[in-house]
Amino acid sequence: MPKFRTLDDLGDVRGKVALVRVDLNLPMQDGAVTDDTRVRASAPTILELADAGAKVLLLAHFGRPKGARDPNQSLSRVIDCVQHVLGREVMYVSELAGDVVRQTIAILPPGGIALLENTRFWPGEEKNDPALVQTIAANADFYVNDAFSAAHRAHATTEGLAHVLPAYAGRAMQAELEALERALGNPRKPVAAVVGGAKVSTKLDVLEHLVGKVDHLIIGGGMANTFLAARGIAVGKSLCEHDLAATCEEILAAAEKSGCTVHLPYDVVVAKEFAPNPPSMRTCNVHEVAPDEMILDVGPQAVEALADVLKTCRTLVWNGPLGAFETAPFDAATVALATTAAALTREGSLVSVAGGGDTVAALNQAGVADEFTYVSTAGGAFLEWMEGKQLPGVKALET
Ligand code: ADP
Ligand code: MG
Repeated sequence: MPKFRTLDDLGDVRGKVALVRVDLNLPMQDGAVTDDTRVRASAPTILELADAGAKVLLLAHFGRPKGARDPNQSLSRVIDCVQHVLGREVMYVSELAGDVVRQTIAILPPGGIALLENTRFWPGEEKNDPALVQTIAANADFYVNDAFSAAHRAHATTEGLAHVLPAYAGRAMQAELEALERALGNPRKPVAAVVGGAKVSTKLDVLEHLVGKVDHLIIGGGMANTFLAARGIAVGKSLCEHDLAATCEEILAAAEKSGCTVHLPYDVVVAKEFAPNPPSMRTCNVHEVAPDEMILDVGPQAVEALADVLKTCRTLVWNGPLGAFETAPFDAATVALATTAAALTREGSLVSVAGGGDTVAALNQAGVADEFTYVSTAGGAFLEWMEGKQLPGVKALET
């Protein structure tokens, strides 16, 4: 694994000024933060630096203000939440650099924490403008990146700063990189990947990368329908991208060439209408789907076979639910396989890493997110990592 510096490599930071990039892009409703997971993720890094006596300046983006100030997207809206989670007073600063920040640093005691304004209010952030990077860096002694979720962007505060200041991975970033390394970088074999979700088209690069990396590729969700259709199976009204048949064939051929076994469902749960517990719901063989039916979940026999596959594996990466899990009971396959993965993880026979917005929701719904070895809440960055891409924010931290 490429080497990167962590907080362990910092010397005495007492009185030094730290720029710490965190993820405060928090979901809000009616002016209140509805989920503080991201703040809790970076709390250890922030508190470790503060407790060591650094002056901690927090950098984060919020929403998509497109390079202009917008009071509705000011980070002042999340300061209460940040203070609450950290259990410390946090000073809000309406700027990102310049005199106001310098004055803040002057009055901030060692161990003090300040939250700078939404980095995306400045057009130079998303352009990774060297001039903006320089003005931000001018106030600080070192840079810590604790926002893996923003590391797929080469922006001023996610990438640029790492080139002009001594740069370190924060604890959350470090944990994420170590987990991902165990899953696909240097995993214990055999390795299984579950790829589900709605569409093949959004995960083509993921599939193409994984067939060359893993021993078992388990395809579920709407995208399995596209593969089944490519194999000449009638999928009725199912969500299906018929125009991707040739692409699916290419992926299957590449898998065969590299010794990756692809698992497609052989029984499925179908219904004539997409609603909770529809009366028309039934389980059938994939060859028996009627023209007016749609596939909404992987069937119980296939799930049992997949569980047996996982039992032979030592590592699992999972992105995408196996069925339309938001609507009962089409979460059954996802819940069952996730429960098996959690049990194998608990027994110590499986390293399990999962990520993706809906995947995390599905694992929470199954009540097993805590039992996986690692669950990444980074949506886009996690997917790009599954695609085998180098994340610029991570690359910039490498020594
Ligand atoms: P993630 O956010 O974890 O990357 P995706 O966004 O790719 O996952 O996919 C999740 C969506 O896929 C869910 O909304 C789920 O309802 C949908 N889905 C899964 N299986 C099916 C199916 N058989 N038919 C229609 N939608 C499905
Ligand atoms: Mg999604």
